[in-house]
Amino acid sequence: MNPKHDTSSVSVPTEELSIERPGVYVVATPIGNLGDLGIRGVATLDAVDFILSEDTRHSRKLLVPYGIDTKLEPLHDYNEDRITRRVITQLMEKHECCALISDAGTPLISDPGFALVKGAFDAGIPVLAVPGPCAVTAALSVAALPTDRFAFEGFLPSRAHARAERLAELRHDPRTLVFFEAPHRILATLTAMKATFGEDRDAAIARELTKKFESLYRGQLGSLLERVASDPNATRGEFVIMVAASHEKPAVGEAERVMTILLEEMDRKAAIRVAMALTGLRRNELYQAALRDGRSDDDIEI
Ligand code: SAM
Repeated sequence: MNPKHDTSSVSVPTEELSIERPGVYVVATPIGNLGDLGIRGVATLDAVDFILSEDTRHSRKLLVPYGIDTKLEPLHDYNEDRITRRVITQLMEKHECCALISDAGTPLISDPGFALVKGAFDAGIPVLAVPGPCAVTAALSVAALPTDRFAFEGFLPSRAHARAERLAELRHDPRTLVFFEAPHRILATLTAMKATFGEDRDAAIARELTKKFESLYRGQLGSLLERVASDPNATRGEFVIMVAASHEKPAVGEAERVMTILLEEMDRKAAIRVAMALTGLRRNELYQAALRDGRSDDDIEI
């Protein structure tokens, strides 16, 4: 490798920056602050034969300040399978290496790249991580919520009913929950979270991390919703919402109680579906409760 960047002034041993061929380098890029692309990220993007990027015009703007002019090729949700097949062949036949980047942060974290990484893995091509910024870990690192266990839930479904069902499934989750959200849905999502998790549940919202208007709102869901709803600036930008773990166990017998009521009105299959959405209890738990209820409905599949 012959990087244009003089890395000798920082004492990273050259072998730490070496490149394998063939290889796929999955490189994390800044989520706002251009200073967050690390030395190894710069050296890798400079040294690879080409870079696959979600939006090549956006990525070019990122690379110019670093003096990187490596060829960019598009890889996004709509062409990923086709490009993957071609790239895998090219890497093997020409003994080349490439980097994968997304518009911001770590590829594959709610971003394209899974088909490429899986394809390379299946073809026996080394896939190497060049770690760095990620909105999930950046948000967790400043939220003052427990991080020993967390669950990343990505973007919630956009339709209200599907979103409510997903939140109900998570109501009793004993881990800190992490969600991505877009500005036009932030209020609807916080409203739905307050309805399902309760207004007293601790939560945090990390907005515009590493950017000029970076803010962290920390409190209980009820007051957080009021805070965001009352300030038009607070609904602008990019968001990570974190919700503290549930400390409640589902009430003993809740499954039985709900199933007894629902089974008066509907068949077992429908009752289980409704009860899952209402309580967040698991299908099997509700099925067992339905069996204990004693009504015969043996032809129902679950
Ligand atoms: N792969 C990226 C990562 O590793 O962070 C995430 C890509 S996902 C398509 C974009 C979402 O990440 C945004 O809608 C927002 O929820 C979150 N996000 C990205 N940058 C952010 C930032 N600077 N501050 C807060 N959230 C951010």
